[in-house]
Amino acid sequence: MSENKKKFETEAIRTQLERTDFLEHSAPLYLTSSFVFEDAEDMRASFTEEKQRNIYSRFTNPNTSEFVDKICKMEGAESGHAFATGMAAVFSTFAALLNSGDHIVSARSVFGSTHTLFTKFLPKWQITTSYFNINEPETIERFITSNTKILYAESPTNPAIDIIDLELLGNIAKKHNLILVIDNCFATPYIQQPIKYGAHLVIHSATKLIDGQGRVLGGVTVGRADLVREIYLFSRNTGPALSPFNAWVLSKSLETLAVRVDKHCENALKVADFLENHPKINWVKYPFLKSHPQYEVAKKQMKLGGNIVAFEVKGGIEKGRNFINAIKMCSLSANLGDTRTIVTHPASTTHSSLAEADRLVVNITDGLVRVSVGLEHVDDIISDLEQALN
Ligand SMILES: *Cc1c(COP(=O)(O)O)cnc(C)c1O
Repeated sequence: MSENKKKFETEAIRTQLERTDFLEHSAPLYLTSSFVFEDAEDMRASFTEEKQRNIYSRFTNPNTSEFVDKICKMEGAESGHAFATGMAAVFSTFAALLNSGDHIVSARSVFGSTHTLFTKFLPKWQITTSYFNINEPETIERFITSNTKILYAESPTNPAIDIIDLELLGNIAKKHNLILVIDNCFATPYIQQPIKYGAHLVIHSATKLIDGQGRVLGGVTVGRADLVREIYLFSRNTGPALSPFNAWVLSKSLETLAVRVDKHCENALKVADFLENHPKINWVKYPFLKSHPQYEVAKKQMKLGGNIVAFEVKGGIEKGRNFINAIKMCSLSANLGDTRTIVTHPASTTHSSLAEADRLVVNITDGLVRVSVGLEHVDDIISDLEQALN
């Protein structure tokens, strides 16, 4: 095995800042806003980038660099940049790469704030978006115009857990010379690596499974070096930098990503199986259940099924809310990918501003419940769901 090509779990642990003179084992935290220069020449060469070094933590910081290096190795990316939040990564990616008059083709079912960015903010700069239905990928090419620059999707989607064929998206992007950007938050690089299928950029909200313990916010964009360079320059000059402390926490979290995600997925599959056989449930959606409409695609591109299970309680919005109210141990919270199991009811919360018809277009029915399955013992998770159903 060559020195610089190790397995995923090893890279997550052994990619580390060089040791200082203290010979610390675990990477230290560099809480400093700036770095000093040795002399005038050092300062000049650093600012013209003849010399690669840290100048100011809005640009780069050792802790954020360590975190970014790990994610790049895990995603198979050339380069990357980290942000204060997942949304800062999403916004900076679009803002850096698009000009007035450019067009995006996106899946309709994307994260709520990303959808608001497309509909409310990007149009201020004459950047427009067309939406395809995630379950009708054969229609995508119809939306592509001469101004289309970016093809955008998430898989699995939030909260309906739909899956789109990444290889197909990669082929469409190649054929039409588009930049394919995938929000890989629900899968994590442990489960799915979109660059293998032709994605040029991959975005993560590190707030979710990457932190995995509900502590810090963070985001990252990785991919082709020339694109990341533009994104870096946008970020360096506009300020959505990840804090060194959060980067340090996230880099530590990556050391345990594989073992955590293995267990999350094992628990989630058991929860999905339990729900599928329960008489008070209409349907369950989980990528690795044979009943999932895109089961074959999921099996092709995902190593495991992820930790999110969507299902519908019989009896519509009222029964969905009753179920949520009867939950005892699991948390009712807006986050996901935490050690603690989280239950949400999108129709009455995150997606309540949409009319019912608009919710149905993205497969959010009134009774849909989303469970982010945590790392408690699976028997306790299932008991809580069971008593709430009864
Ligand atoms: C949470 C989330 C985001 C936004 O991330 P923040 O860190 O909350 O800004 C983007 N995309 C997906 C799929 C998410 O789940």
